[in-house]
Amino acid sequence: MIKGNCLCGDIEFKLNGDLPHIYQCHCSLCRKVSGSSSNSAMLVKIDAFQWVCGEQYISSFKTESGFKSDFCSRCGSPVPNLLKNATGYWVPAGLLDEPTNVSVAAHVYVGSKARWDTLGENCESFAEMPDQETLENLIRPRSKDWF
Ligand SMILES: [Zn+2]
Ligand SMILES: [Zn+2]
Repeated sequence: MIKGNCLCGDIEFKLNGDLPHIYQCHCSLCRKVSGSSSNSAMLVKIDAFQWVCGEQYISSFKTESGFKSDFCSRCGSPVPNLLKNATGYWVPAGLLDEPTNVSVAAHVYVGSKARWDTLGENCESFAEMPDQETLENLIRPRSKDWF
């Protein structure tokens, strides 16, 4: 089990079982919402995710195109949100307490990354978003059935 929380700590959640690997999205929307070169995130199966406290402090923003960001209304940290198909959660990796044994397994939307953004690691990268199966195969935890 590993815990995660927002910057102010009002919102907490925990993940059970094996952690999936991280993917980084370098698209222009993820850059805006993270204020950085990319969003580093995990896709976590619904049964493995649990809110601990603070769900009532979550605010939500959606663009006209449907890109959604949930964030802490007190400190502004992005927080996990339920995937459209409701099979799991999108979890910002930077909220987790020191994850062990996970690495960045895929870079997506590198075709539109910032010019100053350098991909430090040698792993799979995709100009846009690969199909869901391809991404899931790269980031799934090795020891378990997943999605
Ligand atoms: Zn907060
Ligand atoms: Zn993105």
